[in-house]
Amino acid sequence: MSYQKCNLCHERYKGVHLCKPEWETEHLWGKTFEEDRTVRAHDAEGAAERWAEFYDDDGAIRNADGCTKERIRVRLLGSSDPWQVFDVTASQSIDYSAQAVTE
Ligand SMILES: [Zn+2]
Repeated sequence: MSYQKCNLCHERYKGVHLCKPEWETEHLWGKTFEEDRTVRAHDAEGAAERWAEFYDDDGAIRNADGCTKERIRVRLLGSSDPWQVFDVTASQSIDYSAQAVTE
């Protein structure tokens, strides 16, 4: 059985598929409105992380001078739930490895 791609959330799946709920996000420290978008995630925290992935696509968070944190708020799209506020950060990790050699 091959993978199918959901037209709505673009997730690849096998068998039964249920779309993750859609969240609206708002960049509280943002400079442009283009950073506000809807994302699909299982929960608010996941939505904030998903937003960060899009926003950090060109290294906006990782390469920022001094400020490596962005604040956004998130809520289920179309709901009147209170906004949940998140600070998102990105980390660059470097993995070192060592191999024993005989001299
Ligand atoms: Zn879907």
